[in-house]
Amino acid sequence: MQHAINGERLWKRLMAMAEVGATPEGGSCRQTLSDADEAGRALLLGWCAQRGYRIRRDRIGNLFIRREGRDPAAPAVLIGSHLDTQPTGGRFDGVLGVLAGLEVLETLDDRSVETIRPIELCVWTNEEGCRFQPAMMGSGVACGVLELETVLSVRDSAGVTVDDDLIRLGYGREALPQLADADCYLELHIEQGPILEAEGKTIGVVTGGQGIRWYEISLVGEETHAGPVPMAMRKDPVPVLMRVIGLVQEIGRTDDLARCTIGCIELSPNSINVVPGRVELTVDLRHPDETVLEGMHRRLLSGLNTLLKSHEGIDIECRLSWHSPVVAFDDALIEAVRASAGDRDLTSRDIVSGAGHDAFNLARRVPTTMIFVPCRGGISHNPNEYATPADVTAGTNVLLDVTLTRARS
Ligand SMILES: [Zn+2]
Repeated sequence: MQHAINGERLWKRLMAMAEVGATPEGGSCRQTLSDADEAGRALLLGWCAQRGYRIRRDRIGNLFIRREGRDPAAPAVLIGSHLDTQPTGGRFDGVLGVLAGLEVLETLDDRSVETIRPIELCVWTNEEGCRFQPAMMGSGVACGVLELETVLSVRDSAGVTVDDDLIRLGYGREALPQLADADCYLELHIEQGPILEAEGKTIGVVTGGQGIRWYEISLVGEETHAGPVPMAMRKDPVPVLMRVIGLVQEIGRTDDLARCTIGCIELSPNSINVVPGRVELTVDLRHPDETVLEGMHRRLLSGLNTLLKSHEGIDIECRLSWHSPVVAFDDALIEAVRASAGDRDLTSRDIVSGAGHDAFNLARRVPTTMIFVPCRGGISHNPNEYATPADVTAGTNVLLDVTLTRARS
């Protein structure tokens, strides 16, 4: 029998959570481990307390809300996301996954549905990474991707450490972060991109996440006066910059799934009448196939090498500053999402996640997948972030179906 979640209750809670740290522009600001973030957690835990779920907190501030199954020793179905936001965050990024998770638990209670496996709702600390880096911190520590001791000492721009705030908020004596014995992890999220809306599809069947490589490139010439030095006698890195931009755009045309971005360019000294002595730029390459991404990487390096040889007097340095491997989600879970969308007559398409999510960390430990719903105009990390009540309900119903498929097995 197909169950249905209570879309009205979920929508009311999304709007209530948005009032915690509400901004005048209509969004929310609950930066991680701030008072507003903690108030959002308290609101959630208040709703959970009415149902008597078992609540566990850990030393990095993750919350785990557990509805027991018939076999308490069976590996649990984990569902979740995050409640922290960007400083100019919206009402749905992360929050949807958490409140949809609670809605799944409550729907099962309302219908007196027993499951074999326990179901555990996870709220991960510091997914956003705007106040403390790196992002996806709580899930990273719980999954053994990050060291607890290292992240506790990370400081924000005011000099406050992650540990200072965890202690201030009462997490100082909690148990070390540990993932429950888990069968799988599921996360519902807004797409944060424009594809589902543009194609009129309701459910994004997320097959994985892009691999990401970040580069810092320096082009070094010689500063000179803009007047006296003839063009042919300059060591001007700007013509080389033009070629680098062309090269990166060219790599971006590798195929439809390739993404190449130059996000920062700094000229030094950045003065109208000085030939710059130095250009610093960043390149962000992404692709869902590691082999193709490796090919893009090699084209960048060989292209830069060619430029180095053909532009005498300009030195080119390129440093890989960060990388995140391609994430592949679990085939059986992907199929379960597809099947649920089909059973409910919802339009769907396969999609690769362009943004990072806690699910990427979980995927290293347990079978994992995500479900996307459209967000208006593809806008996210913005007070205008919006998903329709119908899409929110549809996505949560799919989350319910896949949760039940696993929790009953
Ligand atoms: Zn998010």
